[in-house]
Amino acid sequence: MAVPKQRTAKSRRDRRRSHHALKPKNLVQCSNCGEMRLPHRVCPNCGHYKGREVVVVEE
Ligand SMILES: [Zn+2]
Repeated sequence: MAVPKQRTAKSRRDRRRSHHALKPKNLVQCSNCGEMRLPHRVCPNCGHYKGREVVVVEE
């Protein structure tokens, strides 16, 4: 097993992690029901995509 030869300094470790933050999810409004949904995904509320129903949503 590979073992680190040198201890990683706090500053180096923290600088590496400076890019690890998560971005907020991108949401767009459904053109059929107006509910917020993820882009390029079938609407989970009404099952529509590109102006037609592709998935039947049960109540
Ligand atoms: Zn919808």
